[in-house]
Amino acid sequence: MLWTEESLFADPDWDLSGIKEMSALEEKVKTCRRCGLRAGCRGVVFGEGNPAARLVFCGEGPGADEDRLGRPFVGRAGQLLDKMLAACGFQRFEHVYILNAVKCRPPGNRIPTDEERAACRLNLDAQLRLLKPVIMVLLGATALQAVLDPKGRITKDRGRWVERNGVLIMPTYHPAALLRNPNLKRDTWADLKQVVVKYRELVDPGHCSPHC
Ligand code: URA
Repeated sequence: MLWTEESLFADPDWDLSGIKEMSALEEKVKTCRRCGLRAGCRGVVFGEGNPAARLVFCGEGPGADEDRLGRPFVGRAGQLLDKMLAACGFQRFEHVYILNAVKCRPPGNRIPTDEERAACRLNLDAQLRLLKPVIMVLLGATALQAVLDPKGRITKDRGRWVERNGVLIMPTYHPAALLRNPNLKRDTWADLKQVVVKYRELVDPGHCSPHC
């Protein structure tokens, strides 16, 4: 089960289940010391966007720019993500909520370990419990593995919907991967077009987008 703060991840010392507001959850998560990452970064990057949005984008974890500014996806990859969103007719603070699988920057931008992902999972689950997304886009392998399937492979699993707990989940490439390898843009765009179609079907039939 996902985002039910289920027994597998339950921790009596980190019980977020009574928190009903995103602002209260943010305040609490900003005090998190459940793994070693917090000691090596400037602060917790909780997430941002419209807390009432039905569409959630999940990345891996903050990079240097995100750590400095305390906001998700604000560096080069984030600028590309904003362009991808705009091509779909989505605006960061209107149609989506953006968060990460881990909330603290891993040193040197290394991939977060299984332990760090597991430690942050309660924070992610609590966010998702409040957000109640209808559609969720997983950006890259770490998000795929943290949210859906620890053995997931983004090259194999991208572009196909998975339903969990009534939420439709679309794994696709991370914008940083597109910066490294622009050939991945074509597949990513195909995945995002599916997201727009589903958004019109399930969230807003009148949704306008410039390119699809
Ligand atoms: N990459 C991510 O996965 N998340 C961010 O917030 C920034 C870069």
